[in-house]
Amino acid sequence: TKTILLDSRPQGTPTEDNFKFIEQDLPSLQEGEVLLKSLYISVDPYMRGRMSAAKSYAPPYEVGQPFKGGVVAEVVESKNNTLPQGAVVVGILPWQQYIVHNGKGLNQVNPQVAPLSYHLGILGMPGLTAYFGLLRIGQPKEGETVVVSGAAGAVGTVVGQIAKLKGCRVVGIAGSDEKIAYLKNELGFDEGINYKSTANLQEAVAQACPDGVDVYFDNVGGEISDAVLLSMNKFARIAICGQIAFYNNTHPATWLRVEPLLLRSSALMKGFIVGDYAAEFGTAARELADWVKEGKLQYQETVKEGFEKLPETFLGLFKGENTGKLLVKIADR
Ligand code: NDP
Repeated sequence: TKTILLDSRPQGTPTEDNFKFIEQDLPSLQEGEVLLKSLYISVDPYMRGRMSAAKSYAPPYEVGQPFKGGVVAEVVESKNNTLPQGAVVVGILPWQQYIVHNGKGLNQVNPQVAPLSYHLGILGMPGLTAYFGLLRIGQPKEGETVVVSGAAGAVGTVVGQIAKLKGCRVVGIAGSDEKIAYLKNELGFDEGINYKSTANLQEAVAQACPDGVDVYFDNVGGEISDAVLLSMNKFARIAICGQIAFYNNTHPATWLRVEPLLLRSSALMKGFIVGDYAAEFGTAARELADWVKEGKLQYQETVKEGFEKLPETFLGLFKGENTGKLLVKIADR
């Protein structure tokens, strides 16, 4: 089966040279094992961290070993009583077309609930990240102003829509006019800022948020965050979800010291990893699924086709090539 390995650790922005394709034979199935066929493979920004040797919340990938991440797969052969042939599962799996697996840690999904790929997005890790970061840390209240950066991506699109459901004024920051138009026209955001074409971000945020910022959901960090934090209201809440502006940096970044601002506004800033809320994933995923079914949450994906597209698709995350969840379709069910 085709497999993608980490060939070398990137210095700065990763390139296709950091990935290696190999063909490998699969072992025959033992009692308790299943043969999985990958259907959809997710590419996510946190994988950049795992390509480095530095300590982070997820352990580094080993050089010479397969990439791993969120995969939706079909059981095509089974010697496992709980995972019959034809079952569909989602799990953290290697980047392979076919996988022999002992079934542990895989979650079976019901194909009736939603399109299968949704389990890598709005009903999976990114959707849960938006849900817990916004509702638990942001605690948005009706009439408040919520700003989200990385607004047109997998997490950001869900954050903004949940904030609208909670009755907030929502401002999204993203990297193109098309993305801003999408946020406003399709998702109901009140305002949008294209950070790439805005000369003075601080002024743009102040203009888009005439009543100041009560909640900031930060997906990117850096200068964008500096601009938002300067508009914080008293008792603002800031959820630190991602810092993609720094993932490819080779030098420590210099940015605003936030302590004086936090002090001045009695604001609360909190980092989080979606796994912090693992005990409540089931309830949250059901609520998200209901909102999708009721048409309260819109969902968009950018889907590339073919296993060999995985490296270039992943690299596209750092160029803003996606609107909504970015993933690769590997095979039909
Ligand atoms: P996205 O779908 O948002 O894709 C990444 C987007 O980031 C790109 O489309 C691009 O959009 C933007 N971007 C890329 N480089 C930069 C930059 N230098 N400055 C500003 N924006 C940039 O990814 P996700 O929704 O999956 O993830 C969003 C963030 O949330 C990431 O930082 C990720 O690491 C984090 N995350 C954290 C989790 C947690 O548990 N804490 C879980 C899941 C995700 P644009 O056109 O706007 O530039």
